[in-house]
Amino acid sequence: MVIVLKNGATKKQIDELMSWLTRFDVKTNLVEGVHSNIIGLIGDTTQIDMESVQAKEIVETVKRVQEPYKNANRRFHPEDTVIEVRGRKIGGGTLNVIAGPCSVETEEQTISTAIAVKEAGATMLRGGAFKPRTSPYSFQGLGKEGIEILKKARDITGLPIVTEIMELTDLDLFEDVDVIQVGARNSQNFTLLKALGRCDKPILLKRGLAGTLQETLMSAEYIMSEGNTKVIICERGIRTYETATRNTLDLSAVPLLKQKSHLPVTVDPSHATGIASLVEPLSLGAVAVGCDALEIEVHNDPKNAWSDGAQSLTPVQFAETMKKIKAMAEFCGRPLDVCE
Ligand code: PEP
Ligand code: MN
Repeated sequence: MVIVLKNGATKKQIDELMSWLTRFDVKTNLVEGVHSNIIGLIGDTTQIDMESVQAKEIVETVKRVQEPYKNANRRFHPEDTVIEVRGRKIGGGTLNVIAGPCSVETEEQTISTAIAVKEAGATMLRGGAFKPRTSPYSFQGLGKEGIEILKKARDITGLPIVTEIMELTDLDLFEDVDVIQVGARNSQNFTLLKALGRCDKPILLKRGLAGTLQETLMSAEYIMSEGNTKVIICERGIRTYETATRNTLDLSAVPLLKQKSHLPVTVDPSHATGIASLVEPLSLGAVAVGCDALEIEVHNDPKNAWSDGAQSLTPVQFAETMKKIKAMAEFCGRPLDVCE
């Protein structure tokens, strides 16, 4: 971190600032120039709040030269993080495909979709039991019953289950869930993130609707700073001025996140576009740019889905898409994860 001081800062003011900075356990280095003075901070500056420094009377500007996240930073953890989920490995050179319905609606719907995605080669099953809907009048999910249905689907197919948590008070219900998803709308629910940081389960963390990559990594940092290092980041499209698609898929986020962080990166082309016909091309694009996993909505009867039917693939469409995903994954040297 570099702090540029205002012209005319007195020695007393500079000394006061330097002594305030010592509380953060960093080395301070004052460089006196002709026109202005600069303080360079060396060490772990993640604890220092830029705004508090900027608020000091004698500070002209303050700039970070290192990222404010530490646990999620590849600089301090050069190896890819590989997260094990019932024998599957997310990260580290293979591709996982998490597929299933937007919402768990009925046992029949979830199980038939689960069997179909498994047959097509999906490696995990998704399904929302608690649904964050824009309207309070839309279907809100089956809750606890939805999780029970997912567990049955897991028993039948062997696919690990991924499902979203919305409320901290529901955490006990997720005891048997394999991967807990944090949705885009909760990506800065810091109380929830911290609590998930204290549990021992993989967390699939979605990027916020307007979240920058740094904010997304800081959300991951919230989880990791409490001890849980099993975080999978998910690019699911961001809000832009474009209205032709539900969101705008930021594919550049994938290689950039992987450069900045060692955490595995997933892409959700379903919520990114909202349009079923765009799911295949963007899945292929996501694999090409290096994602570790895809999350794709599939429904046994999209026209009658209780949520997100327009972006859901039919089992037949998904099977076709999977053939191309597998070919692309092979081509990119990151073959589909196979679980013995
Ligand atoms: C979901 O995956 O079910 C979902 C609601 O996604 P997002 O949080 O990305 O909107
Ligand atoms: Mn959905």
